[in-house]
Amino acid sequence: MPAPPPAVRGGYREGMERILVSACLIGRPVRFDGRAKTVDDALLAGWRSEGRLVPLCPEIEGGLPVPRPPAEIEGGVGGAAVLTGAARILTPEGADVTRHFLAGAQSALALARSMGIRLAILKDGSPSCGSLRIHDGTFRGRVTPGSGVTAALLEANGVRVFGEDRLADAAAYLGDLESAVRG
Ligand code: SF4
Repeated sequence: MPAPPPAVRGGYREGMERILVSACLIGRPVRFDGRAKTVDDALLAGWRSEGRLVPLCPEIEGGLPVPRPPAEIEGGVGGAAVLTGAARILTPEGADVTRHFLAGAQSALALARSMGIRLAILKDGSPSCGSLRIHDGTFRGRVTPGSGVTAALLEANGVRVFGEDRLADAAAYLGDLESAVRG
């Protein structure tokens, strides 16, 4: 007798890899300026319809409002330095908002762990979500290689992070994860 089909909730099938996603990438107006940064892409739309996407805004989770002042990592040194206490996150006026960013990163990690998430698609360039680039801390619109606090914490704990311009790479990684599960 064949095994019963896996349970289905919405488009989601039990056992499918879920994907943590920056809420602003799927249309939620949670950015510092009160806007979204919606990505119109067939891969993302497909994952959404499959019920894989788990949206989160680390800065909102960390207690920051919308709108809020922009913030950058001091010296553009990257999220790992913030996690060790070696760098702060500041607004243009010099207000220290580091604790909110750390709290948001911990929320993202807790969510990923609670759902067994191993893959995230996060908005690049953000002091929370950036994976390849962040701003350099001068508030002059300049970017530098590095990752944000949430991305750094997730990566350090086994969650692979891809920016919104690396969706094909994310799809390949997703395929690897699911083929390994199928054996
Ligand atoms: S913290 Fe991440 S999810 Fe929230 S607005 Fe910034 S880039 Fe988007």
